[in-house]
Amino acid sequence: MSEKTFPLSREHLAALAERYPTPFYLYDEGAIRANARRLRAAFSVFPSYREHFAVKAAPNPYLLAVLAREGLGADCSSLPELLLAGAAGIRGEDVMFTSNGTPGAEYHAARQIGAVINLDDITHIDFLASTAGIPDLVCCRYNPGPLKGGNAIIGKPEEAKYGFTREQLFEGFAELRSRGARRFALHTMVASNELNLDYHLETARLLFDLAVEIKTRLSITLEFVNLGGGVGIPYRPEDEAIGWEALAAGIKALYDRILVPAGLSALGIRTEYGRPITGPYGWLVARAVHRKHIYRDYIGLDATMADLMRPAVYGAYHHITIPGKEDAPHTERYDVVGSLCENNDKFAIQRPLPKIVTAAENGAGDFVVIHDAGAHGRAMGFNYNGKLRCGELLLREDGGVIQIRRPETAADYFATLDFDALAAFTQA
Ligand SMILES: *Cc1c(COP(=O)(O)O)cnc(C)c1O
Repeated sequence: MSEKTFPLSREHLAALAERYPTPFYLYDEGAIRANARRLRAAFSVFPSYREHFAVKAAPNPYLLAVLAREGLGADCSSLPELLLAGAAGIRGEDVMFTSNGTPGAEYHAARQIGAVINLDDITHIDFLASTAGIPDLVCCRYNPGPLKGGNAIIGKPEEAKYGFTREQLFEGFAELRSRGARRFALHTMVASNELNLDYHLETARLLFDLAVEIKTRLSITLEFVNLGGGVGIPYRPEDEAIGWEALAAGIKALYDRILVPAGLSALGIRTEYGRPITGPYGWLVARAVHRKHIYRDYIGLDATMADLMRPAVYGAYHHITIPGKEDAPHTERYDVVGSLCENNDKFAIQRPLPKIVTAAENGAGDFVVIHDAGAHGRAMGFNYNGKLRCGELLLREDGGVIQIRRPETAADYFATLDFDALAAFTQA
Protein backbone atom coordinates (compact mmCIF):
# COMPACT_ATOMS: atom_id res chain seq x y z
CA MET A 1 0.00 0.00 0.00
CA SER A 2 1.13 3.55 -0.66
CA GLU A 3 -0.65 6.44 0.96
CA LYS A 4 -1.70 9.24 -1.40
CA THR A 5 -1.21 12.55 0.37
CA PHE A 6 -1.17 16.18 -0.70
CA PRO A 7 0.70 18.77 1.38
CA LEU A 8 -1.86 21.63 1.28
CA SER A 9 -5.35 21.97 2.74
CA ARG A 10 -8.27 23.09 0.60
CA GLU A 11 -8.15 26.52 2.29
CA HIS A 12 -4.43 26.93 1.66
CA LEU A 13 -4.94 25.87 -1.95
CA ALA A 14 -7.79 28.36 -2.40
CA ALA A 15 -5.53 31.19 -1.17
CA LEU A 16 -2.70 29.99 -3.43
CA ALA A 17 -4.97 29.80 -6.47
CA GLU A 18 -5.81 33.49 -6.09
CA ARG A 19 -2.17 34.27 -6.79
CA TYR A 20 -1.52 31.40 -9.20
CA PRO A 21 -4.65 30.33 -11.05
CA THR A 22 -5.09 26.63 -11.77
CA PRO A 23 -3.91 24.50 -13.40
CA PHE A 24 -0.38 24.29 -12.03
CA TYR A 25 2.17 21.74 -10.93
CA LEU A 26 3.18 21.82 -7.28
CA TYR A 27 6.38 20.17 -6.00
CA ASP A 28 7.26 19.54 -2.36
CA GLU A 29 10.88 20.59 -1.81
CA GLY A 30 11.14 19.10 1.69
CA ALA A 31 9.86 15.72 0.53
CA ILE A 32 12.20 15.70 -2.49
CA ARG A 33 15.19 16.56 -0.30
CA ALA A 34 14.32 13.92 2.29
CA ASN A 35 13.96 11.33 -0.47
CA ALA A 36 17.34 12.25 -2.00
CA ARG A 37 18.96 11.95 1.44
CA ARG A 38 17.44 8.53 2.02
CA LEU A 39 18.68 7.40 -1.38
CA ARG A 40 22.25 8.54 -0.76
CA ALA A 41 22.29 7.10 2.75
CA ALA A 42 21.11 3.71 1.43
CA PHE A 43 23.73 3.64 -1.35
CA SER A 44 26.55 4.82 0.93
CA VAL A 45 27.40 1.12 1.37
CA PHE A 46 29.37 1.34 -1.90
CA PRO A 47 32.93 2.70 -2.07
CA SER A 48 31.74 5.38 -4.49
CA TYR A 49 28.20 6.27 -5.47
CA ARG A 50 26.54 8.99 -7.46
CA GLU A 51 22.95 9.45 -8.57
CA HIS A 52 22.59 11.37 -11.82
CA PHE A 53 18.99 12.60 -11.83
CA ALA A 54 17.45 12.04 -15.27
CA VAL A 55 16.78 15.63 -16.29
CA LYS A 56 14.09 14.60 -18.78
CA ALA A 57 11.85 13.55 -15.87
CA ALA A 58 11.53 17.09 -14.48
CA PRO A 59 13.55 19.58 -16.55
CA ASN A 60 13.24 22.56 -14.26
CA PRO A 61 16.53 24.15 -13.12
CA TYR A 62 15.09 25.00 -9.69
CA LEU A 63 14.35 21.33 -9.05
CA LEU A 64 17.82 20.43 -10.37
CA ALA A 65 19.34 22.99 -8.00
CA VAL A 66 17.43 21.46 -5.07
CA LEU A 67 18.80 18.03 -6.03
CA ALA A 68 22.31 19.38 -6.62
CA ARG A 69 22.31 20.74 -3.07
CA GLU A 70 21.57 17.18 -1.92
CA GLY A 71 24.62 15.96 -3.82
CA LEU A 72 22.89 14.61 -6.91
CA GLY A 73 24.28 14.97 -10.41
CA ALA A 74 22.40 14.99 -13.70
CA ASP A 75 21.80 12.65 -16.61
CA CYS A 76 21.28 14.60 -19.83
CA SER A 77 20.39 13.50 -23.32
CA SER A 78 20.40 16.74 -25.31
CA LEU A 79 22.13 20.11 -25.48
CA PRO A 80 19.25 21.98 -23.76
CA GLU A 81 19.36 19.44 -20.92
CA LEU A 82 23.11 20.01 -20.59
CA LEU A 83 22.42 23.74 -20.38
CA LEU A 84 19.77 23.20 -17.68
CA ALA A 85 22.16 21.10 -15.60
CA GLY A 86 24.80 23.81 -15.99
CA ALA A 87 22.32 26.49 -14.92
CA ALA A 88 21.65 24.49 -11.76
CA GLY A 89 25.38 24.35 -11.03
CA ILE A 90 25.87 20.68 -11.96
CA ARG A 91 29.21 20.39 -13.74
CA GLY A 92 31.93 18.08 -15.02
CA GLU A 93 31.64 14.39 -14.24
CA ASP A 94 28.54 15.06 -12.14
CA VAL A 95 26.86 15.13 -15.55
CA MET A 96 26.29 11.94 -17.53
CA PHE A 97 25.53 12.50 -21.20
CA THR A 98 23.44 9.51 -22.23
CA SER A 99 22.00 10.12 -25.65
CA ASN A 100 21.32 8.20 -28.81
CA GLY A 101 21.42 9.28 -32.44
CA THR A 102 23.60 12.07 -31.08
CA PRO A 103 24.52 15.07 -33.27
CA GLY A 104 28.23 15.94 -33.34
CA ALA A 105 27.57 19.40 -31.88
CA GLU A 106 26.05 17.82 -28.78
CA TYR A 107 29.06 15.54 -28.23
CA HIS A 108 31.19 18.63 -28.58
CA ALA A 109 29.16 20.54 -25.98
CA ALA A 110 29.19 17.57 -23.59
CA ARG A 111 32.98 17.32 -23.87
CA GLN A 112 33.41 21.04 -23.30
CA ILE A 113 31.64 20.88 -19.95
CA GLY A 114 33.53 17.72 -19.04
CA ALA A 115 30.42 15.51 -18.85
CA VAL A 116 30.85 11.75 -18.86
CA ILE A 117 30.03 10.66 -22.40
CA ASN A 118 28.00 7.48 -22.58
CA LEU A 119 28.23 6.02 -26.09
CA ASP A 120 25.10 4.41 -27.50
CA ASP A 121 26.70 2.58 -30.42
CA ILE A 122 30.02 1.18 -31.61
CA THR A 123 30.02 3.43 -34.71
CA HIS A 124 29.95 6.43 -32.39
CA ILE A 125 33.58 5.77 -31.43
CA ASP A 126 34.67 7.01 -34.86
CA PHE A 127 32.01 9.70 -34.83
CA LEU A 128 33.08 10.97 -31.41
CA ALA A 129 36.74 10.92 -32.44
CA SER A 130 36.01 13.06 -35.49
CA THR A 131 33.55 15.49 -33.86
CA ALA A 132 34.71 16.03 -30.28
CA GLY A 133 37.71 13.77 -29.74
CA ILE A 134 37.97 10.72 -27.48
CA PRO A 135 38.00 11.80 -23.84
CA ASP A 136 39.98 10.19 -21.05
CA LEU A 137 36.82 8.64 -19.56
CA VAL A 138 34.26 6.91 -21.76
CA CYS A 139 31.17 4.96 -20.79
CA CYS A 140 29.43 2.48 -23.09
CA ARG A 141 25.77 1.52 -23.00
CA TYR A 142 25.00 -2.19 -23.00
CA ASN A 143 21.92 -3.75 -24.57
CA PRO A 144 21.66 -7.26 -23.15
CA GLY A 145 19.23 -8.36 -25.89
CA PRO A 146 17.84 -11.83 -25.27
CA LEU A 147 19.67 -12.10 -21.92
CA LYS A 148 17.09 -9.86 -20.29
CA GLY A 149 13.29 -10.06 -20.18
CA GLY A 150 11.01 -7.24 -21.29
CA ASN A 151 9.25 -4.43 -19.45
CA ALA A 152 5.91 -2.77 -20.29
CA ILE A 153 7.07 0.75 -21.19
CA ILE A 154 10.54 0.13 -22.68
CA GLY A 155 9.74 -3.25 -24.26
CA LYS A 156 12.13 -6.15 -24.83
CA PRO A 157 15.84 -5.22 -24.93
CA GLU A 158 16.11 -7.19 -28.19
CA GLU A 159 13.66 -4.78 -29.79
CA ALA A 160 15.10 -1.66 -28.16
CA LYS A 161 17.22 0.71 -30.24
CA TYR A 162 19.71 1.42 -27.48
CA GLY A 163 23.21 0.28 -26.71
CA PHE A 164 25.97 -2.10 -27.82
CA THR A 165 25.58 -5.86 -28.11
CA ARG A 166 27.73 -7.91 -25.76
CA GLU A 167 30.41 -8.64 -28.35
CA GLN A 168 30.45 -5.03 -29.57
CA LEU A 169 31.26 -3.96 -26.01
CA PHE A 170 34.49 -5.96 -25.91
CA GLU A 171 35.44 -4.69 -29.33
CA GLY A 172 34.41 -1.13 -28.39
CA PHE A 173 36.38 -0.95 -25.14
CA ALA A 174 39.49 -2.33 -26.87
CA GLU A 175 39.09 0.21 -29.65
CA LEU A 176 38.59 3.09 -27.20
CA ARG A 177 41.74 2.06 -25.34
CA SER A 178 43.75 1.96 -28.53
CA ARG A 179 42.51 5.48 -29.30
CA GLY A 180 43.70 6.87 -26.00
CA ALA A 181 40.85 6.45 -23.54
CA ARG A 182 42.19 5.56 -20.08
CA ARG A 183 39.12 5.29 -17.90
CA PHE A 184 36.13 3.11 -18.71
CA ALA A 185 32.59 2.64 -17.48
CA LEU A 186 29.59 0.51 -18.31
CA HIS A 187 25.92 1.49 -18.44
CA THR A 188 22.58 -0.06 -19.13
CA MET A 189 18.95 1.03 -18.97
CA VAL A 190 16.55 -1.78 -19.70
CA ALA A 191 13.35 -0.97 -17.84
CA SER A 192 10.93 1.81 -17.13
CA ASN A 193 8.60 2.15 -14.16
CA GLU A 194 9.47 -1.33 -12.94
CA LEU A 195 8.30 -2.08 -9.38
CA ASN A 196 9.77 -5.57 -9.18
CA LEU A 197 12.93 -5.44 -7.05
CA ASP A 198 14.26 -8.71 -8.52
CA TYR A 199 14.17 -7.22 -12.01
CA HIS A 200 16.58 -4.48 -10.92
CA LEU A 201 18.82 -6.91 -9.04
CA GLU A 202 18.99 -9.09 -12.14
CA THR A 203 20.16 -6.04 -14.13
CA ALA A 204 22.89 -5.38 -11.56
CA ARG A 205 23.98 -9.03 -11.68
CA LEU A 206 24.19 -8.89 -15.48
CA LEU A 207 26.40 -5.77 -15.36
CA PHE A 208 28.60 -7.09 -12.55
CA ASP A 209 29.21 -10.38 -14.41
CA LEU A 210 30.10 -8.37 -17.49
CA ALA A 211 32.47 -6.10 -15.52
CA VAL A 212 34.32 -9.22 -14.38
CA GLU A 213 34.49 -10.59 -17.92
CA ILE A 214 35.77 -7.25 -19.25
CA LYS A 215 38.55 -7.40 -16.65
CA THR A 216 39.41 -10.99 -17.53
CA ARG A 217 39.28 -10.66 -21.31
CA LEU A 218 40.60 -7.12 -21.79
CA SER A 219 42.46 -6.40 -18.53
CA ILE A 220 40.26 -3.31 -18.22
CA THR A 221 39.21 -2.43 -14.69
CA LEU A 222 36.02 -0.44 -15.03
CA GLU A 223 35.77 2.71 -12.95
CA PHE A 224 32.02 2.48 -12.45
CA VAL A 225 28.89 0.72 -13.50
CA ASN A 226 25.79 2.82 -14.16
CA LEU A 227 22.62 0.87 -13.47
CA GLY A 228 20.43 3.40 -15.32
CA GLY A 229 16.93 4.33 -14.20
CA GLY A 230 13.65 2.52 -14.44
CA VAL A 231 12.75 2.10 -10.79
CA GLY A 232 8.98 2.45 -10.68
CA ILE A 233 6.75 4.32 -8.27
CA PRO A 234 3.45 3.14 -6.78
CA TYR A 235 0.96 5.05 -8.92
CA ARG A 236 -1.89 2.96 -7.52
CA PRO A 237 -2.62 3.06 -3.80
CA GLU A 238 -2.38 -0.74 -3.71
CA ASP A 239 1.13 -0.71 -5.26
CA GLU A 240 4.21 -1.12 -3.09
CA ALA A 241 7.26 1.13 -3.51
CA ILE A 242 10.74 -0.37 -3.88
CA GLY A 243 12.54 0.94 -0.80
CA TRP A 244 15.98 2.48 -1.39
CA GLU A 245 17.36 0.42 1.48
CA ALA A 246 16.14 -2.90 0.02
CA LEU A 247 17.41 -1.96 -3.43
CA ALA A 248 20.86 -0.89 -2.22
CA ALA A 249 21.18 -3.91 0.08
CA GLY A 250 20.23 -6.28 -2.75
CA ILE A 251 22.78 -4.71 -5.10
CA LYS A 252 25.43 -4.76 -2.34
CA ALA A 253 24.97 -8.50 -1.80
CA LEU A 254 25.64 -9.09 -5.52
CA TYR A 255 28.57 -6.66 -5.39
CA ASP A 256 30.18 -8.61 -2.56
CA ARG A 257 29.50 -11.96 -4.22
CA ILE A 258 30.58 -11.13 -7.79
CA LEU A 259 32.88 -8.11 -7.84
CA VAL A 260 34.89 -8.28 -4.64
CA PRO A 261 36.32 -11.81 -5.27
CA ALA A 262 37.25 -10.70 -8.82
CA GLY A 263 39.37 -7.83 -7.52
CA LEU A 264 36.82 -5.17 -8.46
CA SER A 265 36.19 -3.97 -4.92
CA ALA A 266 36.70 -0.31 -5.88
CA LEU A 267 34.09 -0.29 -8.63
CA GLY A 268 31.81 2.74 -8.30
CA ILE A 269 28.06 2.56 -8.58
CA ARG A 270 26.07 5.15 -10.51
CA THR A 271 22.33 5.42 -11.04
CA GLU A 272 20.13 7.61 -13.21
CA TYR A 273 16.83 7.51 -11.40
CA GLY A 274 14.31 10.09 -12.51
CA ARG A 275 10.77 8.99 -11.71
CA PRO A 276 11.34 7.81 -8.11
CA ILE A 277 13.26 10.99 -7.22
CA THR A 278 10.56 13.59 -7.92
CA GLY A 279 7.53 11.62 -9.18
CA PRO A 280 5.63 11.09 -5.91
CA TYR A 281 6.39 14.64 -4.72
CA GLY A 282 4.74 16.54 -7.57
CA TRP A 283 1.02 17.04 -8.22
CA LEU A 284 -0.98 18.53 -11.05
CA VAL A 285 -3.59 20.77 -9.44
CA ALA A 286 -6.63 21.57 -11.55
CA ARG A 287 -10.16 22.74 -11.00
CA ALA A 288 -13.42 21.14 -12.01
CA VAL A 289 -15.06 23.45 -14.55
CA HIS A 290 -17.92 21.53 -16.17
CA ARG A 291 -20.13 18.56 -15.46
CA LYS A 292 -21.65 16.66 -18.35
CA HIS A 293 -24.16 13.86 -18.17
CA ILE A 294 -24.68 11.80 -21.34
CA TYR A 295 -24.12 8.04 -21.50
CA ARG A 296 -21.51 8.55 -18.78
CA ASP A 297 -20.82 11.26 -16.21
CA TYR A 298 -17.95 13.58 -17.11
CA ILE A 299 -16.06 16.13 -15.06
CA GLY A 300 -14.22 18.62 -17.26
CA LEU A 301 -11.04 20.17 -15.84
CA ASP A 302 -9.08 23.30 -16.69
CA ALA A 303 -6.04 21.02 -17.29
CA THR A 304 -5.70 18.78 -20.35
CA MET A 305 -3.49 15.94 -21.57
CA ALA A 306 -1.26 18.73 -22.91
CA ASP A 307 -0.31 19.20 -19.23
CA LEU A 308 -0.04 15.48 -18.38
CA MET A 309 -0.11 12.96 -21.19
CA ARG A 310 0.75 9.75 -19.35
CA PRO A 311 -2.85 8.54 -18.98
CA ALA A 312 -3.47 9.11 -22.69
CA VAL A 313 -0.27 7.56 -24.05
CA TYR A 314 0.35 4.73 -21.59
CA GLY A 315 -3.14 4.22 -20.18
CA ALA A 316 -1.37 5.14 -16.95
CA TYR A 317 -3.24 5.33 -13.66
CA HIS A 318 -2.86 8.55 -11.70
CA HIS A 319 -4.60 8.73 -8.37
CA ILE A 320 -7.05 11.63 -7.94
CA THR A 321 -8.17 13.27 -4.74
CA ILE A 322 -10.50 16.19 -4.05
CA PRO A 323 -9.08 18.44 -1.29
CA GLY A 324 -11.63 18.83 1.50
CA LYS A 325 -13.38 15.62 0.43
CA GLU A 326 -10.63 13.15 1.38
CA ASP A 327 -12.97 11.19 3.61
CA ALA A 328 -16.17 11.62 1.58
CA PRO A 329 -17.72 8.41 0.23
CA HIS A 330 -16.91 7.60 -3.41
CA THR A 331 -20.53 7.65 -4.56
CA GLU A 332 -19.89 8.78 -8.15
CA ARG A 333 -18.22 7.24 -11.17
CA TYR A 334 -16.64 9.85 -13.43
CA ASP A 335 -14.58 10.18 -16.55
CA VAL A 336 -12.30 13.07 -15.55
CA VAL A 337 -11.38 14.84 -18.78
CA GLY A 338 -9.59 17.79 -20.34
CA SER A 339 -10.83 20.04 -23.13
CA LEU A 340 -8.62 18.80 -25.97
CA CYS A 341 -10.30 17.63 -29.21
CA GLU A 342 -9.05 14.09 -28.54
CA ASN A 343 -11.18 11.50 -26.83
CA ASN A 344 -8.16 10.05 -25.04
CA ASP A 345 -7.80 13.35 -23.16
CA LYS A 346 -8.92 11.64 -19.96
CA PHE A 347 -7.13 11.72 -16.61
CA ALA A 348 -9.36 8.96 -15.28
CA ILE A 349 -11.96 6.67 -16.77
CA GLN A 350 -14.99 5.43 -14.80
CA ARG A 351 -13.20 6.41 -11.58
CA PRO A 352 -15.11 6.14 -8.29
CA LEU A 353 -14.87 9.60 -6.65
CA PRO A 354 -16.76 11.78 -4.21
CA LYS A 355 -19.37 14.08 -5.74
CA ILE A 356 -17.49 16.94 -7.42
CA VAL A 357 -18.84 20.49 -7.62
CA THR A 358 -17.84 22.44 -10.73
CA ALA A 359 -17.04 26.11 -11.35
CA ALA A 360 -20.03 26.28 -13.70
CA GLU A 361 -22.21 25.38 -10.72
CA ASN A 362 -20.80 27.44 -7.86
CA GLY A 363 -18.29 29.84 -9.41
CA ALA A 364 -15.20 28.26 -7.83
CA GLY A 365 -15.37 24.52 -8.41
CA ASP A 366 -13.60 21.81 -6.45
CA PHE A 367 -9.87 21.43 -6.76
CA VAL A 368 -8.87 18.18 -8.42
CA VAL A 369 -5.42 16.92 -7.41
CA ILE A 370 -3.71 14.46 -9.73
CA HIS A 371 -1.03 12.56 -7.85
CA ASP A 372 2.44 11.26 -8.76
CA ALA A 373 2.89 13.83 -11.51
CA GLY A 374 6.33 15.03 -10.40
CA ALA A 375 8.23 13.12 -13.10
CA HIS A 376 7.46 12.72 -16.81
CA GLY A 377 4.51 15.06 -16.17
CA ARG A 378 4.98 18.71 -17.15
CA ALA A 379 8.05 17.50 -19.02
CA MET A 380 5.96 15.60 -21.58
CA GLY A 381 3.54 18.48 -22.12
CA PHE A 382 2.81 19.75 -25.59
CA ASN A 383 0.86 22.44 -27.42
CA TYR A 384 -1.53 20.49 -29.64
CA ASN A 385 -4.85 22.27 -30.12
CA GLY A 386 -3.14 25.50 -29.11
CA LYS A 387 -3.20 24.41 -25.49
CA LEU A 388 -0.81 26.41 -23.34
CA ARG A 389 1.20 24.44 -20.80
CA CYS A 390 0.73 25.33 -17.16
CA GLY A 391 3.30 26.70 -14.74
CA GLU A 392 5.18 25.07 -11.86
CA LEU A 393 5.23 25.98 -8.16
CA LEU A 394 7.58 24.87 -5.43
CA LEU A 395 6.45 24.41 -1.82
CA ARG A 396 9.48 25.44 0.22
CA GLU A 397 10.45 23.83 3.48
CA ASP A 398 9.30 26.92 5.42
CA GLY A 399 5.79 26.54 3.97
CA GLY A 400 6.16 29.38 1.44
CA VAL A 401 5.40 28.80 -2.23
CA ILE A 402 7.41 30.19 -5.15
CA GLN A 403 6.73 30.02 -8.87
CA ILE A 404 9.55 28.15 -10.61
CA ARG A 405 8.04 28.34 -14.09
CA ARG A 406 5.28 30.68 -15.20
CA PRO A 407 2.40 29.39 -17.29
CA GLU A 408 2.73 29.75 -21.06
CA THR A 409 1.02 32.66 -22.79
CA ALA A 410 -0.28 32.89 -26.33
CA ALA A 411 2.85 34.95 -27.09
CA ASP A 412 5.03 31.97 -26.09
CA TYR A 413 3.02 29.76 -28.39
CA PHE A 414 3.46 32.24 -31.26
CA ALA A 415 7.12 33.02 -30.51
CA THR A 416 8.41 30.97 -33.44
CA LEU A 417 6.11 32.69 -35.94
CA ASP A 418 6.96 35.92 -37.75
CA PHE A 419 3.69 37.84 -38.07
CA ASP A 420 5.32 40.80 -39.84
CA ALA A 421 6.53 38.49 -42.59
CA LEU A 422 3.04 36.99 -42.64
CA ALA A 423 1.50 40.42 -43.23
CA ALA A 424 3.80 40.95 -46.22
CA PHE A 425 3.07 37.41 -47.40
CA THR A 426 -0.70 37.85 -47.30
CA GLN A 427 -0.49 41.26 -49.10
CA ALA A 428 1.80 40.03 -51.85
C1 LIG B 1 14.53 7.87 -18.97
C2 LIG B 1 15.89 7.53 -18.61
C3 LIG B 1 16.27 7.49 -17.25
C4 LIG B 1 15.33 7.76 -16.12
O1 LIG B 1 14.29 6.85 -16.05
P1 LIG B 1 13.23 6.91 -14.87
O2 LIG B 1 12.26 5.85 -15.25
O3 LIG B 1 12.64 8.26 -14.86
O4 LIG B 1 13.95 6.62 -13.62
C5 LIG B 1 17.59 7.21 -16.96
N1 LIG B 1 18.49 6.96 -17.94
C6 LIG B 1 18.16 6.98 -19.24
C7 LIG B 1 19.20 6.72 -20.26
C8 LIG B 1 16.85 7.25 -19.62
O5 LIG B 1 16.53 7.27 -20.92
